[in-house]
Amino acid sequence: MQDGPPVHPAPHRRRAVSRRRLRACHECDLLVALPPLHPGEKAECPRCGNTLTRRHANPAERSLALAIATLITLGLSVTFPFISFEISGIGNRIELTETASTLIGLHQPLVALCVLLTVIVLPAVYLCCVAWLCLGVLLRRPLPRSRQIARTLRHVTPWMMADVFVIGTLVSLIKVMGMAHIELGLSFWTFCAYALLLLFTTQSVDTDWLWFSLEREPMAPEGVRTGRTAASQGLVGCHTCGLVNPLPTGAGERCRRCHEPLHAASGFSSQATLALLAAALLMYIPANFYPIMITTSLGSSVPSTIMEGVLLFIHHGDWPIAFIIFTASVVVPVSKMLALLWLCHVVGHDRQALSRNARIRLYRITEFVGRWSMVDVFVVAILVALIRNGSLLSIEPGAGALAFAAVVVLTMLAAMLFDPRSIWAGAEPDFDPDARPQTGRDTDAKESDYA
Ligand SMILES: [Zn+2]
Ligand SMILES: [Zn+2]
Repeated sequence: MQDGPPVHPAPHRRRAVSRRRLRACHECDLLVALPPLHPGEKAECPRCGNTLTRRHANPAERSLALAIATLITLGLSVTFPFISFEISGIGNRIELTETASTLIGLHQPLVALCVLLTVIVLPAVYLCCVAWLCLGVLLRRPLPRSRQIARTLRHVTPWMMADVFVIGTLVSLIKVMGMAHIELGLSFWTFCAYALLLLFTTQSVDTDWLWFSLEREPMAPEGVRTGRTAASQGLVGCHTCGLVNPLPTGAGERCRRCHEPLHAASGFSSQATLALLAAALLMYIPANFYPIMITTSLGSSVPSTIMEGVLLFIHHGDWPIAFIIFTASVVVPVSKMLALLWLCHVVGHDRQALSRNARIRLYRITEFVGRWSMVDVFVVAILVALIRNGSLLSIEPGAGALAFAAVVVLTMLAAMLFDPRSIWAGAEPDFDPDARPQTGRDTDAKESDYA
């Protein structure tokens, strides 16, 4: 038996499709063979333009260093004072965790949980997971429970909102700047660094490389052709590790590599999206009808709804802040709900409206902007913790805050459950069988591909 790379006659080599490194695009289901990628390069789906994977130089060292640096800035952010506030000689200094603990004291445990999870707990879990996995790869021996931990990354990522919290803090500061003396604590600056580093860490994690390093890559089923959809060949791409699997024949079938349940494209996803949208629409009524916060000043309490808050900013001439709050609390949730409703409608009925590429762009925008609506909830959490001067001046959360947080969570879940593959259903692509994803260099890099 002779070792070494197999040599095929030229005509066969051109036609042959390797059963390794095949991927079904998560958004349009086109089956493509990933080309060798160099650090700094990314592979895009030739049909819908979705980024299939992005390669980095020294991915393990890079993600581990970033995760540790981010954890350190998070540790500093919860240790030192965040912001101090002083009015008429009476002051208050808060730490980051008080934005959640004060809400618990004011009978809003669910909003407190929402703040705590999205700003501190889930990012901390994510960072520890990334560090654990990268350490295993660097030691050339995956550490215990690596497969389960790698699976959790995809589920945690959309719920990390440190960057949104930074915008919420800035809006809160502008709101109170005129009425009191504000001082930024050390934690404020470390928190800004933490939010930035968290973004870099999530972007540094190359899922394709990570799963290859942890579990190698089983072959795709025999007779697979690229340039066609996976579903038309009885296949499905795993949304967690990317491996191409045979289409599940019953509920509960799992990916051969990561053991995550497999989901074939079906009408169920738009039904689930519609159910969540209905719940979000219902919650949007109390979110606007009930006050989002109640301001007590010199003994008299003034409740204010989302729109009253926006009008107050306009009244004070703070047009940019009024614009941010109005966009995050009204424009984004309403347009997101309408866009998802419309997408569910065109998938179910009118397939001619708007091109598929336009629909997929609309879906991507909807998924991207949803989390930014949380700004208003964070503004309430920060102001409630900061402004606690009794009857002189204090702010309490209103019932509208919980309803609005529920709207944000429900619309995010609705967008996640919507299956973009249904946008392309019924249109079999006509690509060359040897079609390969496009590659584009987006940063300077060197060194070779992992495979
Ligand atoms: Zn695609
Ligand atoms: Zn998988």
